[in-house]
Amino acid sequence: MNEIQYDVIIIGSGAAGMIAGIKASRDGKKVLLLEQLDKLGPKLKATGGGRCNLSNTLSNADFMNSFGRNGKFMSDALNLLDHKDLIQFLADIGVETHIPDGFRIFPVTHNSSTIIKALADELNRLKVTISLETKVLRLLLEKEEIVGVQCNRKDEAVKFLSSKVIVATGGLGFPVLGANGDGYDFAKELGHQVTDLYPAMLPLLTKETWVNECKADTIAKAVLKIDLPKAKKLKAVGDLIFTSKGIRGPVVLDFSREITPFLEKYEEVPILVHMLKGMNEEDLRVHINKELKIKADLSVIGVFSKLLPESVLKELCKIVSAQHDLKFKKLNGQIRDNLIKILISTPLTITDHVGFKKAMITRGGVKLKEISPKTMQSKIVEGLYFCGEVVDLDGPCGGYNLQWSFSSGNLAGMLKV
Ligand SMILES: Cc1cc2nc3c(=O)[nH]c(=O)nc-3n(C[C@H](O)[C@H](O)[C@H](O)COP(=O)(O)OP(=O)(O)OC[C@H]3O[C@@H](n4cnc5c(N)ncnc54)[C@H](O)[C@@H]3O)c2cc1C
Repeated sequence: MNEIQYDVIIIGSGAAGMIAGIKASRDGKKVLLLEQLDKLGPKLKATGGGRCNLSNTLSNADFMNSFGRNGKFMSDALNLLDHKDLIQFLADIGVETHIPDGFRIFPVTHNSSTIIKALADELNRLKVTISLETKVLRLLLEKEEIVGVQCNRKDEAVKFLSSKVIVATGGLGFPVLGANGDGYDFAKELGHQVTDLYPAMLPLLTKETWVNECKADTIAKAVLKIDLPKAKKLKAVGDLIFTSKGIRGPVVLDFSREITPFLEKYEEVPILVHMLKGMNEEDLRVHINKELKIKADLSVIGVFSKLLPESVLKELCKIVSAQHDLKFKKLNGQIRDNLIKILISTPLTITDHVGFKKAMITRGGVKLKEISPKTMQSKIVEGLYFCGEVVDLDGPCGGYNLQWSFSSGNLAGMLKV
């Protein structure tokens, strides 16, 4: 049995765990970083399709708003490390960043390995002890105080000692990248509450099979709304892509975090999709008249060909029993009205999602009311800290979740009491 005493033990080598290790070590602490997999930052490597969208340029207030009503919890962490500070922190360890679209922040290399290497180099420079392939099995307590962690390292039982432990174990999404929910179990074992957990940022499956005919078609700036009385205000805007069994794309990734909790409650979630970039019924009628003025004998789908892909138009025509190749002016009035309606607001029924296996983020986590936002320390067990995705905060696509991991990891690493 190997028993070494550290000032702090950090469980998990994602963005949150690595920056926590750097911060604590820069403050003169003897740090041990434990990672169950054989490399540092396995999920960080996969972020942004390998390009690593680190953060974005929103003000702290707008950034917090994007996380919903829990967002304000992040205030202290962001005040200490917001996107500008993160850019500086990365520059100091040799990573140049840029903002190609004026909003999303990436390393100039557009390669997440650049970030992982720089973080790893800094951890090594600071002489942080890193133990890979070391799975923490449980946190050790004596007289209700943290004394260390019990681990399994390559089938060997190992115990490490410290009166402070930072849980930076991430969520449940993409288990191949290390997500296993251990952090939630550690929290519960020590008396914390964990909210219901839902997969978020993932493709959705629909009852409607017509989507298959449109697979790979992309609709720019689609608007998605949940068609349930309690959720009328929830909407998202962005690019939508049809798949053989449903929908994916940036807007779906964002909106799925709203839909999965409803799916848990109801078997199906009706949604309405607007694919015409804000056009209302009147705008559409003006468009029709304009097109017919240019070419009077346009077919039904010909009238709308500048607005939507042909395959989508054909499928919507089928739904309202409109013959797609008929001359538009010969279309029965009621059918024409139904077509206009479905073009403005296309109903889809979400019946399922692809599960945690493909969820980029977990909705829910360790309850915020039991964690101090000023320190990230547990209000229940002294010396226990949480940071990153394991806590009950999840943001949309666009660098929000990594910024939160870096900001909260930095704050936890300060080991404030
Ligand atoms: C494919 C994909 C792409 C993404 N792209 C982006 C993006 O571009 N921008 C963005 O902001 N967000 C993105 N996200 C979300 C973002 O990656 C996460 O929110 C963030 O990485 C979470 O960081 P973390 O440090 O909290 O946890 P993680 O990075 O998940 O790290 C937790 C670590 O803890 C380890 N661990 C768990 N349990 C134990 C244990 N018992 N013992 C030892 N080690 C343990 C795990 O192996 C893991 O390495 C993406 C997610 C995915 C899956």
